[in-house]
Amino acid sequence: MNHYKTETVCIQGGYQPKNGEPRVLPIYQSTTYKYDSAEHLGKLFDLQAPGHMYTRISNPTVEAVESKIADLEGGVGALCLSSGQAANLFAILNIAKSGDNFISISSIYGGTVNLFAVTMKKMGIEVRFVRPGSTDEELDALFDDRTRAVFGESVANPALDVLDIERYASLAHKHGVPLIVDNTFPTPILCRPFEFGADIVTHSTTKYMDGHAQVVGGVIIDSGRFDWSAGNKYPELTEPDESYHGVVYTRDFGTAAYITKARVQLLRDVGASPSPMGAYLLNLGLETLHLRMERHCDNAQKVAEFLEKHEKISWVNYPSLPGNSQYELARKYLPNGVCGVISFGVVGGREAAVRFMDSLKMAAVVVHVADARTCVLHPASTTHRQLTDRQLIDAGIGADLIRMSVGIEHIEDIIADIAQALEQVS
Ligand SMILES: *Cc1c(COP(=O)(O)O)cnc(C)c1O
Repeated sequence: MNHYKTETVCIQGGYQPKNGEPRVLPIYQSTTYKYDSAEHLGKLFDLQAPGHMYTRISNPTVEAVESKIADLEGGVGALCLSSGQAANLFAILNIAKSGDNFISISSIYGGTVNLFAVTMKKMGIEVRFVRPGSTDEELDALFDDRTRAVFGESVANPALDVLDIERYASLAHKHGVPLIVDNTFPTPILCRPFEFGADIVTHSTTKYMDGHAQVVGGVIIDSGRFDWSAGNKYPELTEPDESYHGVVYTRDFGTAAYITKARVQLLRDVGASPSPMGAYLLNLGLETLHLRMERHCDNAQKVAEFLEKHEKISWVNYPSLPGNSQYELARKYLPNGVCGVISFGVVGGREAAVRFMDSLKMAAVVVHVADARTCVLHPASTTHRQLTDRQLIDAGIGADLIRMSVGIEHIEDIIADIAQALEQVS
């Protein structure tokens, strides 16, 4: 599908029915698959023939969606998982084991901070957080011979820092490790990290990709470009896998070594599989992703401009506002728009923020972002409440920060709702 433009892939990618087959991607609601011979099934188990054996590992509906997403990002393969959390866990776990470490930008999603700093630490994998403004020297000093990856979000949730992908990619590559980019907020419609040197991309598909707040899901995409054999850092990919009597992923699967191992080893052992029904709904979302992202960005830009001029707003953070600290990076990496999420502070701090939120009539207070409906959240008291004050600052979040996910309703209705809520704030 690589010859089609992104917008076309959103609609046509992943599923091409043959003569007489259903026009729309069917839901293969089956855990298992029938084969004519034990020998054929044996070949599947030995990874010598392509095909499905068990839905924990693969399923035709899920596979179609994986193929569409791989095309959208320009990768060689994708693996859908049951959540964005599972995607980021698998992305690291696939190339790091107890005793290894990896480097992550500190201003990332709170759930990922917990995953990296608490749960993965218990697994013996150490995260080394780095502040977005760190110098090359400070970054270089964090690497050692057990460092296995660098991780960042293309647009940080909710700090909205834009990742200088080229810079972190070249730093990672200098030290012989891949750059993993969580591209949840821009989606491949607005940014394709592989074009700037990233090696692995992850998403919480729960957000814009689904777009309707219906299914929790995640995905990992492999660019196929990282050389796992150089430097002897990734024996799990370059040496025989005992659990597959001797498969060598780099030898047997070439550029798809990383994504194949994630599926046949990690997903086989850990589970965290998406459901066929969930994949079907995700596919429906993907079919309109390009249209929705355009409207999300248009609306967010207008809301940001409205808030910037409002006397009851102390600050507005939206990377495509001129004067924003991320403006130049956004122009480089996200020339067609950043995402629909903006953040701002209401004059009067925490209390005023809560009053504003409670006064909204259309925009809903929910623990979610990035779907068709406008919604708001106060991270310090919800998604990020497990973080310490220090971690909050590292994640770029103040106590007064309101995160607004601007939906695709008519812009006049969105602004009218915000304006009337601000009138309630004294
Ligand atoms: C929501 C989110 C996640 C976690 O994804 P879930 O689908 O909720 O598990 C990871 N990264 C980013 C940037 C997110 O916004």
